[in-house]
Amino acid sequence: MEKSPVYDIIILGAGPAGLSSALNCAKKGLRVLVLEQNAIGMTQKTWLTFGYVIDRFALSECVIRRYSRVVFSSYLGSRYECRKNFLFPIDEERALILLAEQAVKAGAKIRGKEAFVNYRHDGNLVVIHSEKGAYRARLVIDAMGYESRILSSCRLKNDTVDMGCLSLFLKNADGFDPKTCFLYDSYFPGSDYFWVVPLGPGIVMAGIFFFSSLTPSNRDEKEALLRKYLSQRGIKGVVFKKRMGNIPLGSQANFFVPGFILFGDSANTPLPSSGFSFSRCLEESLVVSEFAQGYVNGKMQLRDYKTKILSAKIPGIEVHLIISDMLAKFSDSMLNKAIGGMGIFGDEFIIDFLSGRNMNVDFCIKALTAILKTFSLSELSNLSLRQEYLKRLTSLYNLLPAVPSAQILRQVVKAVTGQFGKRK
Ligand SMILES: Cc1cc2nc3c(=O)[nH]c(=O)nc-3n(C[C@H](O)[C@H](O)[C@H](O)COP(=O)(O)OP(=O)(O)OC[C@H]3O[C@@H](n4cnc5c(N)ncnc54)[C@H](O)[C@@H]3O)c2cc1C
Repeated sequence: MEKSPVYDIIILGAGPAGLSSALNCAKKGLRVLVLEQNAIGMTQKTWLTFGYVIDRFALSECVIRRYSRVVFSSYLGSRYECRKNFLFPIDEERALILLAEQAVKAGAKIRGKEAFVNYRHDGNLVVIHSEKGAYRARLVIDAMGYESRILSSCRLKNDTVDMGCLSLFLKNADGFDPKTCFLYDSYFPGSDYFWVVPLGPGIVMAGIFFFSSLTPSNRDEKEALLRKYLSQRGIKGVVFKKRMGNIPLGSQANFFVPGFILFGDSANTPLPSSGFSFSRCLEESLVVSEFAQGYVNGKMQLRDYKTKILSAKIPGIEVHLIISDMLAKFSDSMLNKAIGGMGIFGDEFIIDFLSGRNMNVDFCIKALTAILKTFSLSELSNLSLRQEYLKRLTSLYNLLPAVPSAQILRQVVKAVTGQFGKRK
């Protein structure tokens, strides 16, 4: 019987994670096959993405609109206003098609409307069975997103807290400023946040998100809350499209199973402060492709993937988590003060922080220090930082003695346990 063709890399799923890693793996000369159950570009979720990602992946033609103001806002008081043009709504279908075209040009094969069904191991290779055929690979990248079952097929799971999202697209709309994009608008007391994203003349996207799952049973309730928000803000229009889903946040304990690495939503998103995973996937595809090349050339083992993708970030993410936890408890005026405190390093620094672009530990410590320095000792003593974060920092310090920056973590632990600040 004729054996199925062998690829260096088979990528399951052609979302942002799958296509960007296909592009970067193919650019490195690896033989790449992508299998996608739908037509390419049909799985769209993303609303907004960052300018630096658009530039790096040559996606400027997908930008729907540019704003003069992006406001992280609250009804009761302005929080933080980013005057720079840094966040854009994109046509995700177009962006995915462009990424696919670039990947094919670099040598990748992409098969749309061909779903992955199951797999088995054949020596050092993994045999992938799709609806239409069988293919062998040295390494498989699971980029099947939120619904992926690869991890559970090995009886493993990552603990996940969903960020539920629901959005309404309105036409013939008015009552909104077409030049201003509102993010994280905490209009009503509670854990629901709202977004207003103008898309064109008379067209606006309004969304609600929250740190729990969107389910069939709470869907109507969330939509009603979003409609109430729109009515209170005076935004009117006719709903012509809805988009909804969950972004998996939480621990990234399991990153690989034999023959597979997980990338994108299949591996969770580590940052509770960020739902901007489209940008994150594209950025991290560079690291994924470096690992894939090393693995195929026999220079890396599967277990190196976790270190490779996280090592530069783990300490920074942990510090970022502490900051996120603090900021979540701040009143509007304190939040404004805290983010303003980072202004001493310039606008670019604030953008790096808000977008999660810079996860370097030194950067995150600089941000934490700048924030803490803006408050008096009595204000600081009112901030109760979660003990679990302190424990995580301490264990991290013990776990990663080889990371030079880990030294700095000791200072952070000191800072947040009360020894910080000799000011009155
Ligand atoms: C409502 C909503 C709004 C969002 N808004 C934003 C935003 O504004 N900005 C931002 O940066 N991020 C946003 N996100 C997050 C972002 O869209 C996701 O994190 C990102 O799409 C994850 O990419 P991925 O490639 O890992 O997974 P996905 O985009 O889910 O792609 C997975 C792909 O795998 C395919 N697949 C699944 N099973 C199979 C199979 N058996 N065989 C073959 N193919 C398969 C799917 O069809 C899909 O194409 C949003 C998410 C949601 C749910």
